[in-house]
Amino acid sequence: MTDMKKRQVIVVGGGIGGSSAAFHMKQLGIDVLMLEKDQFPRDKPCGDGVIPAVFPVLRNMGVYDQVVAEGYPSGYIRLYAPDDTYFRMSNTTTLEGEEAPMYCIPRYRFDDMVNKAAVNAGVDYLENFEVTEILMERGQAKGIRGIHNGKAVEIESDMVVLASGSHSMVARQMGFYEENPDYVFYGLRGYFNDIEGLEDVEFYYPDKFLPTGYIWLFPTGKTSANVGVFITESALKKTGMTSEELLWEWIGNTHMGHKRLGHAKLIGKLKGWRLPSGKRKPIYAGGVMAVGDAGNMIEQYGGGGIPQAMVAGTIAAQTAKNAIQANDFSKAFMKNYSDAVDQAFSATYIGMEALRQYAFGTPEQLKNTINWMNEHEAEDASMQDYLFKGLKLDPTKLAGQMMSHF
Ligand SMILES: Cc1cc2nc3c(=O)[nH]c(=O)nc-3n(C[C@H](O)[C@H](O)[C@H](O)COP(=O)(O)OP(=O)(O)OC[C@H]3O[C@@H](n4cnc5c(N)ncnc54)[C@H](O)[C@@H]3O)c2cc1C
Repeated sequence: MTDMKKRQVIVVGGGIGGSSAAFHMKQLGIDVLMLEKDQFPRDKPCGDGVIPAVFPVLRNMGVYDQVVAEGYPSGYIRLYAPDDTYFRMSNTTTLEGEEAPMYCIPRYRFDDMVNKAAVNAGVDYLENFEVTEILMERGQAKGIRGIHNGKAVEIESDMVVLASGSHSMVARQMGFYEENPDYVFYGLRGYFNDIEGLEDVEFYYPDKFLPTGYIWLFPTGKTSANVGVFITESALKKTGMTSEELLWEWIGNTHMGHKRLGHAKLIGKLKGWRLPSGKRKPIYAGGVMAVGDAGNMIEQYGGGGIPQAMVAGTIAAQTAKNAIQANDFSKAFMKNYSDAVDQAFSATYIGMEALRQYAFGTPEQLKNTINWMNEHEAEDASMQDYLFKGLKLDPTKLAGQMMSHF
């Protein structure tokens, strides 16, 4: 029975970010309590694409082999222009001497594996516990207030890690919540069967959804896929449609949409969710660190957030350990967490922002990007090569220009 005694750290949210933070804290000998409002296994709308950037964390947590056993691998990606031309690129990375593809695995399963890894490592854990407030005293976190099985509860702690996802009201309380419609995306996903000619991950950029929108097909089998829409709030508003209407419009009224999904069957329901991107707001306060979607860590071109949430969890654990050793939980000390997160991800955010501004921002840019990549395929050119050699963008200038956004 987990008691309500004072803890060194309380982690709010038992999803992938919270479970990574709590698991790594436990490994570092920290007294940590993880609180989750839902009950696992639980669903989470997602493309379900688990990419190699997160594999080292999955290996640490002992869940990598399970992901490989249950996930569906995809070794290639195709980027399509509206007229059917496409560029096919490798989706594998060499990690610790092995070729690693992306795996598509339902979040209902994946999140449960990650959550159980934390619980089995000995993390104290309560479900049906909704944290409603971070208790602050003179700018310093002192614990949390919440509702557990219908009862109001307060628990004290030296630090609080917010890993409560993209709708997090506690992140709003702390001023971490991203509101900018160019950096908040809407995602929608559904599972389709009976898809013909499915070999690779597919991305489509229909004219209407530009800028910054696409439709994905992530294979979950030979003829089945997780299909979804990814679009900024501002672009969605301009279409005058919902993301669900956009998907049906693409399937029913565009050449490519009809060709790919005209004869496919939707299994179950389409589900939508919010994706706050780019880490442009603060992610720390006195005794507080935000991890994953609660800290707006989704990258703002492809929409991936699993690696950021789980890697940030490891950084929060190390920062908590250092803070305990220094007996310093101040805002100034917590800045070390934000700096380490920047060091880990800012190159990704800068690269992704450059892609969305210069390579995929308009139908014309998209066509040029795909043409250049096809012309330079023999040289094994990467997207980075396109930005710096194809478009001749200056990496130093670009970083300066992008950093001024952050
Ligand atoms: C449609 C869509 C497609 C996506 N596709 C991909 C993809 O293919 N690949 C990829 O890498 N990323 C993808 N992402 C992003 C990815 O889903 C997120 O970045 C990731 O889930 C973030 O993990 P998290 O732990 O921060 O938050 P979450 O996974 O949302 O977990 C938060 C947890 O906190 C709990 N919680 C919330 N509030 C409270 C509270 N007050 N008290 C207690 N508990 C609370 C929730 O119940 C939940 O269990 C996609 C997102 C969307 C919406």
